Amino acid sequence: MPSDPAHADVVVVGAGISGLTAAYELHRKGIDVIVLEAADRVGGRVLVETTALGSAVDLGGQWIGKGHHRFEALAAELGATRYRMRSPKMPLLADDNGTIRFGSPSTPAAITTLLGFELASHLPGRDTQNSVTLREWLRRVPTGRARRMLEVIIEVTCCGDIDDLSVTAFLEFIRYQGGLNTMMKSAGGAQDSLLVEGAGSLACRLADRLGERVHLNRAVGAIDRNDTNLVVTTGTTTITADRLVMTVPPPIAAQIEFRPALPDSYIRLHRNTYMGAVYKALAVYDTPFWRSRGEAEMILGGETGFAVFDSSPPDGPGHLTVLVGGPDARRVGELSVDARRVLLLEHLEPHLGADVRNPASWHDKVWHHDPFVGGGYCALPALGTREGFYPVAHAPVGTIHWAGTETASEHAGYIEGAIESAHRVVDEIVRSGLGTR
Ligand SMILES: Cc1cc2nc3c(=O)[nH]c(=O)nc-3n(C[C@H](O)[C@H](O)[C@H](O)COP(=O)(O)OP(=O)(O)OC[C@H]3O[C@@H](n4cnc5c(N)ncnc54)[C@H](O)[C@@H]3O)c2cc1C
Repeated sequence: MPSDPAHADVVVVGAGISGLTAAYELHRKGIDVIVLEAADRVGGRVLVETTALGSAVDLGGQWIGKGHHRFEALAAELGATRYRMRSPKMPLLADDNGTIRFGSPSTPAAITTLLGFELASHLPGRDTQNSVTLREWLRRVPTGRARRMLEVIIEVTCCGDIDDLSVTAFLEFIRYQGGLNTMMKSAGGAQDSLLVEGAGSLACRLADRLGERVHLNRAVGAIDRNDTNLVVTTGTTTITADRLVMTVPPPIAAQIEFRPALPDSYIRLHRNTYMGAVYKALAVYDTPFWRSRGEAEMILGGETGFAVFDSSPPDGPGHLTVLVGGPDARRVGELSVDARRVLLLEHLEPHLGADVRNPASWHDKVWHHDPFVGGGYCALPALGTREGFYPVAHAPVGTIHWAGTETASEHAGYIEGAIESAHRVVDEIVRSGLGTR
């Protein structure tokens, strides 16, 4: 492990995609930079693992969405190989009573409500319901089956809890992300393509290029600003810097002591946001065997609600991505690894066949149990507050610059947003005239 330097032109706090991209760009411009990361690994909300069959799976962010050009460019620059998602026109909808067919009364009820969300997200009145929870709004949906399906769709699209998320916050989120259809769609939407090597491999490749500038197990506890510089404290060590780039998600940044205190707008942002709850699993098979009987993309709205995607790479093996959000994720996260694998796969058996119960390997992560990331996919606004609407506050505070996906003006919440925010802070720092030589 590299020893901590006493000083750097720029200290970047957090080795997620935004922190590593910012550090890499600063380093390429000849600016002396170090990255301090609390965890014992780089990546933050991206994390790649190698399966028993030698393929790569992402336990965190994985999909390149439509229009995520910076993500595409970074992947190409770092030598990663992109492939398109296999995707049906419509996912299968099912619950513990079986498939929800198009003719079922629940289908038009769910579709009408989704269209209602989409429409309302463009109407001025969306502003007035910031104290109304999504559960209250969903009471008008005629069937319990449709209500449950909508609850699961909300959980999987933003990892929110319908008892905690306001109608206004959800509508803002939909509008900002370019519509519910884009958010839910695979081909041509937010789940358009993947990387054979895994999105998490980009963090590892950036860290490799930065070498000993990246310091792991360095949780920043305090940041002091004085007239001449910044003093960053991690455990028992201190590092001085001319500038600092903060990439920690807002509710987690609340754990860092800033002296003097940050402006009120930042204090409110840190207090009035929380990370969504999310559990993600990858089941790996010799082949995508289910394709002989149909597609695997589905939303299951039974007692355990979750979404499934066929994310298999083009030359195999078979990969199934399982996403569980909100309260369902919290319940699944309380189970042992074996118990959650059995529970989730037994729900897939009626649709994909008995072989689904025997994956060659199973990879999973309960993100809301990660002490340094706190959850996913991103920070959400507390009921009745507005500070967490995207993009969140990011004007520099003296010599502290703010990056991280939540601060992006486009595609906040996604990897694309993390990269955009990194480019913006690098611009801010370079325009300030720091360290160019
Ligand atoms: C399960 C899941 C699925 C997702 N799916 C997708 C997807 O398919 N496509 C997509 O585009 N996006 C997806 N996302 C979102 C995407 O992963 C994030 O938007 C992106 O990775 C955020 O990067 P970041 O650098 O802004 O923040 P982070 O990755 O959160 O980085 C912040 C870093 O700061 C560190 N840190 C925290 N506290 C301290 C401290 N005190 N001192 C030092 N370091 C600290 C953390 O450990 C972390 O490494 C997903 C996220 C999750 C969790």
